[in-house]
Amino acid sequence: MSAREIPFNRPYVTGRELSYVAEAHRNGQLAGNGPFTRRCQAWLEERIGCYKALLTHSCTAALEMAATLCEVQAGDEVILPSFTFVSTANAFVARGATPVFVDIRPDTLNLDGELVVEAISERTKVIVPVHYAGVGCDLTPYQAIARERGIFVVEDAAHSILATDEGRSLGSIGDLAAFSFHETKNLSSGQGGALAINDERLAARAEIIWQKGTNRSDFCRGAVDQYTWIDQGSSYLPGEIPAAFLSAQMEEADLITERRLAIWQTYHRELEGLEQRGWLRRPCVPEGSGHNAHIYHVLLSNAEARTRIIEFLRRKGIGAVFHYVPLHTSPAGRRYGREAGELTVTEDIAARLLRLPLWLGIEPLLPRVLRAVGEFFDTVEA
Ligand SMILES: *Cc1c(COP(=O)(O)O)cnc(C)c1O
Repeated sequence: MSAREIPFNRPYVTGRELSYVAEAHRNGQLAGNGPFTRRCQAWLEERIGCYKALLTHSCTAALEMAATLCEVQAGDEVILPSFTFVSTANAFVARGATPVFVDIRPDTLNLDGELVVEAISERTKVIVPVHYAGVGCDLTPYQAIARERGIFVVEDAAHSILATDEGRSLGSIGDLAAFSFHETKNLSSGQGGALAINDERLAARAEIIWQKGTNRSDFCRGAVDQYTWIDQGSSYLPGEIPAAFLSAQMEEADLITERRLAIWQTYHRELEGLEQRGWLRRPCVPEGSGHNAHIYHVLLSNAEARTRIIEFLRRKGIGAVFHYVPLHTSPAGRRYGREAGELTVTEDIAARLLRLPLWLGIEPLLPRVLRAVGEFFDTVEA
């Protein structure tokens, strides 16, 4: 990458990560569930307001833990958007469930709650809303029905650390929630994640699943004098080294979010003119959303314009990307899942959405990005 290039993403480091990693080394405990793991979990419990948080090696792992905790099995259906990352579906498919893809709303790009209600069947075991870009997905249309029928709600909160909706933390609303600390997310340990547990009845079993199906956590607390295999589980804990790295990021989380919001606001303010001229649409953030500026996206008028702007920006050394390939159109999605009705909004949005670079340190380069976007439309208009 040349010095002139503006990558799509650049992981941020606070500067304290390596000294915390050295401290983990000095502690003489490098496997998981040590002091740094506990520090991160306490931070999550306080900031999300969940009953319990367990650090995992990825959000994917946290979703797999959720699937085990909900006792998902072959024949069960799991309702989720098609406009999401593969892990939202895969964690449940791994246990034999059928993903049922429901369309998104054209404004927030989150699951359409009314369509979720229509898609609920006798077989529905779990509903998995994704808070796209850290903008809260409204769960109210189906929360009461889910409670009545014993359907679990698992928030895919991969984008949502420190985001709120109507004053409530995202990740504190469903029975369970999965967070990601992948390099591309707001807080990162390279790869990492967490499971937030809001239904306290699930907490004891979650810890066992986390610890390879053993009661090792009870043993570490001195509650039992030996530990043994008592349930299903896997190795979901990260070691202390990524936990140490992550704890440095957590200490700066408010600052990181503020700086991301400032970048987001700059894009939003500066692109208003292009929206007014009808060249693009900016994100719709509802009143009451306390989003965390995880993503800045725009919608182009069609797929062709998106292809051309990505190429135009690439030639100027600017990384802009799109996502998601709708899961219902993917080979695995077609094999394992089914569609609940037409997914016209998903297909339309996925073809036109463009993500602009958003990372800490890009601030002085934003005028260049914005100028390039403006130039693209000037050429189109000419
Ligand atoms: C990033 C992401 C995941 C997966 O996170 P990992 O930590 O990489 O496993 C899951 N769902 C969504 C919506 C994501 O954006």
